[in-house]
Order: sequence, then structure tokens, then C-alpha cells
Amino acid sequence: MTQTSLDDVLVALDRFVARIDAYDPAAKPLGAVEVAVPGQAARLSLSAPVARALVAALDGYHDPRDQGPCEHCGGRRLDHNFLCLDCQRPNGVFGALLAERAAAYSGDPAALLGPPEGGASR
Ligand SMILES: [Zn+2]
Repeated sequence: MTQTSLDDVLVALDRFVARIDAYDPAAKPLGAVEVAVPGQAARLSLSAPVARALVAALDGYHDPRDQGPCEHCGGRRLDHNFLCLDCQRPNGVFGALLAERAAAYSGDPAALLGPPEGGASR
């Protein structure tokens, strides 16, 4: 994951407002949002269309790490193997299937990972 600086946030918000304002440049200001970073602050005027678009954008964001809620504890921290980081239980049918297979597997765990990167198979 790349680093995002606070300057990036200011620039992205400014671009977002400009992009939405272009469709309705005569819309009256509804309010403003102020974002400050050390040594710099930005005040972004929000028209009703921009405010609606911002709410929709924030509500519609889906974090790529979000695997959905755990069916056991409701936690939202499932890893990419569908193991809940809160209650440590495998989640869903696929998670239970992975746990069953892993428990029954008695071979070399390294064999499951495939050949080393850039190298030939063992
Ligand atoms: Zn859980």
C-alpha cells in the first residue's frame, strides 16, 4: 500500500470539489469543510451537489482489506485466509473448509507455498 500524505488529501478533496462543481457552477454554498495539515490549511466550499457526492463517495468506499463481517463475533478483521483476527475462528463455509483441509494435511507445509520466487521448483 502506498503512503498517502495529508497534502495528497488536500489535493484530492480540491480536485473532487472542482470536478463536481463543474456540473452545477451556480449552486449556492451549503457549508464548508476545513482540512489542516502542519503549515497548510484548506477551506473547501461545499455546494449541495458536492455535499451529496462526498457523502455518496465516502459511503460507497470499500476497503480492499474488507472481507465482510465474521459470522461468529461480527468483527470486521478477517484476513485473506478468512480467519477472524478477533475471535481466531475461520469464517464461512470457505474458511471452515480451509481449516478442515489444513488440519488434515500432514505433508511439508512449504510444499503448499510453491517454488521460491525467481527460482526453480524443489
Ligand atoms: Zn470473529
